[in-house]
Amino acid sequence: MKILIESFKQFLKEAIDLVCPPATQDLELNTKNRDAAIEAEHIQYGPLNLDDEEYWERSAEHWNTTPDIAKKSRCGNCTAFDVSPRMKECLPGPTSEAIEDAEGELGYCWMHHFKCHSARYCYTWAAGGPISEDTVSAQWQEKNEFPEEPIEEKKKKRKKRRRKRRSKRGYGGGYMFDLGGGGDGGDGGGGE
Ligand code: SF4
Repeated sequence: MKILIESFKQFLKEAIDLVCPPATQDLELNTKNRDAAIEAEHIQYGPLNLDDEEYWERSAEHWNTTPDIAKKSRCGNCTAFDVSPRMKECLPGPTSEAIEDAEGELGYCWMHHFKCHSARYCYTWAAGGPISEDTVSAQWQEKNEFPEEPIEEKKKKRKKRRRKRRSKRGYGGGYMFDLGGGGDGGDGGGGE
């Protein structure tokens, strides 16, 4: 039991110590990633104007549904949308739009690595969000490699993950904690 408590404390400490995703601190990088998500055929982040009916009609066609149904899937309820307390601390970084407005709020997208708006959406939307707990946010960060991270940083992260996996197996072969919460802590696939 003592080992479990100590390990959990360590996990929480690491969650708190995580650095902010680079795009939350660098407006140029955020804009580059956002623009790539707007342009990519398989992502199509938008719409710029939330009343753009043509955009929602295209989205409805993509999902073989109606615009009204398509409008129910937004960043705000996507599994990759991070509005956890720790991420909100990161988000007041440089931004080209308000953190909150009448339509919703900004959060961090773990699939495409930019600050997306809860009222928008993209073709890689997946149910299960938002991410509202620090522990779940930490899981996404642990499993993600930021595209712009130097190779050495990526290698260090991979090593750290391997060490963690080994130590978890040492306690019975499975994960010690089922942290639950929004999202499956997936691999952040579908990124640029
Ligand atoms: S993956 Fe989800 S959070 Fe990211 S832009 Fe698409 S809908 Fe928004």
